[in-house]
Amino acid sequence: MPRPRPRPSDEPTSIRRADVSDPRSEFADLLASARVVVTELLEEGIEQFDATKTGAGKAADDAKASPSSSPSSPPSSSSSPSPSASAPVARSKPARASTPEATRAPAREPNLPDPSLAWGPTPTLDAVEQTLGDCRRCELCQGRTRIVFGDGNPEADLLFVGEGPGQREDEQGLPFVGKAGELLTKMIENGLGIPRQTVYICNIVKCRPPNNRDPLPAEVEACRAFLDGQIAAVRPKVIVSLGRPAASLLLGRKVAISRERGTWHSYQGIPLMPTLHPAFVLRQYSEENRRAVWEDLKAAHARATTDGPA
Ligand code: URA
Repeated sequence: MPRPRPRPSDEPTSIRRADVSDPRSEFADLLASARVVVTELLEEGIEQFDATKTGAGKAADDAKASPSSSPSSPPSSSSSPSPSASAPVARSKPARASTPEATRAPAREPNLPDPSLAWGPTPTLDAVEQTLGDCRRCELCQGRTRIVFGDGNPEADLLFVGEGPGQREDEQGLPFVGKAGELLTKMIENGLGIPRQTVYICNIVKCRPPNNRDPLPAEVEACRAFLDGQIAAVRPKVIVSLGRPAASLLLGRKVAISRERGTWHSYQGIPLMPTLHPAFVLRQYSEENRRAVWEDLKAAHARATTDGPA
């Protein structure tokens, strides 16, 4: 599996010394380092820019990217989809309308008890969703149209975590149904060859941040128990985090996604594969980025289907 090229400083001293005498090799190292840095800047910088200035960030619903070829195709693969019918398929939950505008404000009720007290260590998704209720634990409730709880198979082997709903998701009450969602769905269905409804998809926050800005720490904190509840309910064999914020939240530190994608980690004992966010891939629609996500999804799916029970 291709990994981001190591920076020169990651390499053994003996190799670095040998390379110093070869200007071509030194140049190649420099180039590799520069690419890693540029990719990180693109992801972090552009997300920041999008979030604060244009609102075109995570959801990519507003992204102007118009890929010239099918984003779903693994870069140079001719794999033919072979839908797996083995996993139970979820009923698509009807989108829930939230409280009408007029009755919303003042909405915030942050001092509710720890939600996990309501469902215990082995919850069901329904219990977690019921506890979430018509949530008013943070300011995001004031701008949302619908809560976007999650979608898919409650017994999925693969669970995806994105950042937060965009406009389309907010309208429909379902995660990843905008442009980024279309790409994710194609990668799952055409790339991995499994129906989207065999996996489970959710987000760090369940309500759309205004203008698609990044969720604030207090908002992430208010929603965290519900993400943990979803993971505890689904008990997936593998978690795939989409983009830097989800990887950083689950790993509890700032993650340089272009360097750490494609490498195995673990969250609450569950193997975790960080990969690039599909909205980022739409914006930076390169063969390299598409291949990266494709490799990561293949690895995650392989592990989820070959490892023993969760
Ligand atoms: N981006 C996300 O992170 N989540 C969604 O649900 C949609 C776009």
